[in-house]
Amino acid sequence: ERSGHAGVLAGLDPDQARAAAATDGPLMVIAGPGSGKTRMLVHRIAHLVRERGVPAGACLAVTFTRKATEELRTRLVALLGEAGRAVAVHSFHSLGLAILRAHADRAGLGADFRIAGEAERRAALADALGLGEARAARLLQAVSALKRTGAAGPVEAAEACAVLARTGRAQGWVDFDDLVVLSADLLAADAEIAAAWRARFPHVVADEFQDVDEQQYRLLRLIAGAEGRLCVIGDPDQAIYGFRGADAACFARFARDFPAARTLRLARNYRSTATIATAAARLVGAPGDGIVRPGGTPITTHVAADEAAEADFVAATIEDLLGGHDLLAAGCDRGDAAAGALGFGDCAVLYRTDAQAAALRAALDRAGIPFMKSSPAAIAGHPGVTAILDGLGPADGAEAADDAGPRLAARIAAAAEAVRRAGRAEPAALAEARGWLATLAASEAVGGDPARLVEAVALSTEADFRDRRADRVSLMTMHAAKGLEFPVVLVVGLEAGLVPFSWGDSAADEAGQAEERRLFYVAVTRARDRLVLTRAAERHWRGAVRRLPPSPFLADIAADLTVAAAGARRRRPARQLDLF
Ligand code: ATP
Ligand code: MG
Repeated sequence: ERSGHAGVLAGLDPDQARAAAATDGPLMVIAGPGSGKTRMLVHRIAHLVRERGVPAGACLAVTFTRKATEELRTRLVALLGEAGRAVAVHSFHSLGLAILRAHADRAGLGADFRIAGEAERRAALADALGLGEARAARLLQAVSALKRTGAAGPVEAAEACAVLARTGRAQGWVDFDDLVVLSADLLAADAEIAAAWRARFPHVVADEFQDVDEQQYRLLRLIAGAEGRLCVIGDPDQAIYGFRGADAACFARFARDFPAARTLRLARNYRSTATIATAAARLVGAPGDGIVRPGGTPITTHVAADEAAEADFVAATIEDLLGGHDLLAAGCDRGDAAAGALGFGDCAVLYRTDAQAAALRAALDRAGIPFMKSSPAAIAGHPGVTAILDGLGPADGAEAADDAGPRLAARIAAAAEAVRRAGRAEPAALAEARGWLATLAASEAVGGDPARLVEAVALSTEADFRDRRADRVSLMTMHAAKGLEFPVVLVVGLEAGLVPFSWGDSAADEAGQAEERRLFYVAVTRARDRLVLTRAAERHWRGAVRRLPPSPFLADIAADLTVAAAGARRRRPARQLDLF
């Protein structure tokens, strides 16, 4: 069934529709948070498939995390039905992997090459160079940085790189960063293979383009070819991965590499209330126009005595908002957030460093508030995962394609049970790992194949398993919140030293500070209806209790948009008690 032009693009405003329909050459879509960039991406693909007769399998969407690929898939299926499943949706790493798998021999890899986890690479390095673990770990980080930027690095990192490549080839593995580098190398070196991939994906879209690094950009460019049916989407004000070699100058580079490229902008912020959008615009010196949603409740600020009190304040605030008590907003416009209709899953608590989560977890536990923490940590080195995978044992070879998934799930359960009986992993870690592996086993990418399971593990972080349907408060770092939105966002730890983060050397470089500001901007712009900003007067920080001054960024959100929360807050009973 073929819908009319208005069909697929009807859900877009005129700017978004123009961007979605501009499919016959290279295109940059540059726009602020909440302007519908990701929404436009999905509609663009739907438009190609429904209205331009492009086969769904000829469209490639590239984004950063496994979770983000799942979100895109869900939205594509919602718009396109079954055809949405045929669209190629990849993270940069899974795209590299698909290319290398298809041409392992030409890439100089064995047909059954695997991805080595961090522990294995560290051990290989320590072994080959006779280093201690800590030293090998540091060197491994330098190697990773070297690979991402493609720039010259310290001599020893270059040497370590060569050692790892040799050992990896001999033992049949590549590392995570290799997936992008080697696949780009392959496309650059082999015109025939490159042409085949270009023919396969005449339409390529990349989301969050401001965060691509040198090698990821190279891969995109090679796959798009010279005429470049490539659409890149992003926001330079949200570039937060400079420390990993990403470079928002990639937009300028794109314009140079594709002289025919058009640039389109989206002007309206659909996500945040005027209050939140205005505060955010001030942070980065943006004009603050294009605000769609009127008014909004003032931004709540609060200074707690220490990190425990700050965490208690977070718990109490969530209680208030969900219970409809909303004492904070007394006398304020609250039409937007529909107090009382909110669930735990509508709330996110964002922090700069993972270490800050401990106090929050404790406070939410005390208050009986369900939460899930999305850690950016790779699951590959996790003790529970390692123990289960070690115990998985060989497949019996009798698996029919139809029940391979359930079979694999059963083997994971059996391995986890064996590990538990043998006491080889902490019960909590084991339960967590078992859940992740079961989720992966049931995923499309794994399809019941144990080798693919190991591969999927190598590509996953803990944050990838955040379940949006679960009614739990999300705890995550500001970095992990990229691209997401929540009705209620609480940003904690707003003290100089944390936000902006200081690495403890006095020569804090200007580029780093600017990136920290953009990171805070990303955090603030996740909020739809309510934004709460807190800091602690005193906190345990670098081995001592310290009084850190307020984040200088707070001063940029002028007082006219904020309201201070009442100082001492009454402790509320745990939420479950409300049931009785
Ligand atoms: P970010 O920079 O944070 O990734 P984004 O530009 O990708 O943001 P989206 O996540 O696509 O923004 O959209 C933000 C919110 O606004 C979503 O809830 C989306 O559904 C909504 N939205 C976007 N465009 C429209 C529109 N034309 N009409 C109604 N809602 C819209
Ligand atoms: Mg987006």
